[in-house]
Amino acid sequence: MSTGKNKLILFCGPSGSGKSTAVKHLLSTISELAFSVSATTREPREGEKNGIEYYFITEEDFQSKIEEDKFIEWEEVYSGTRYGTLKEEVYRIWDEGKHVVFDIDVLGGLRIKKLFPENSLAILMSPPSIEVLRQRLIDRKTETAETLERRVTKAEFELGHAALFDKVIVNDSLANALLEAEQTVREFISK
Ligand code: 5GP
Repeated sequence: MSTGKNKLILFCGPSGSGKSTAVKHLLSTISELAFSVSATTREPREGEKNGIEYYFITEEDFQSKIEEDKFIEWEEVYSGTRYGTLKEEVYRIWDEGKHVVFDIDVLGGLRIKKLFPENSLAILMSPPSIEVLRQRLIDRKTETAETLERRVTKAEFELGHAALFDKVIVNDSLANALLEAEQTVREFISK
């Protein structure tokens, strides 16, 4: 285990697992953390701002960044929609003396863990079941019938990788899941 600085906290899990809520909770309660804002080619959802949730960029810009080797990893998370972690973003946060928190898909998260095995904590947020996840996505009202099915299919795939994670948090009670996430991260960064 490395000491002190330059840690990576990888939050993975399907959309609707509570992963983004957990990330927000950690950022608001643990001052030593900062969020790695990814680049994406998807359109902003209502209320999302460039540079806060994501850097919303065009396909052309994304392609240039790949060619210029600006990404630690990138992934076509959904067909036709790419997401990537920028090297610059991670090094800037480390330079500020903080640990980096990622909201990232399972493959991207595991790839980063492989690159930084000593100082990464990979957490998988899991819904209690696929049916609960489907209902949460329906209630969220951000999905069309097609994107809903895509997200559910991807969730099944992602949850199949649970054994590769340092910690799996089952979100059957959000309050408990947030507490567990906070305790796990506090313990990891104190080492
Ligand atoms: P959403 O469109 O719901 O914001 O995110 C879709 C998925 O992409 C989520 O699982 C999110 O964690 C993941 N994601 C966000 N940024 C990145 C990234 O930089 N790389 C990878 N591989 N996945 C990402």
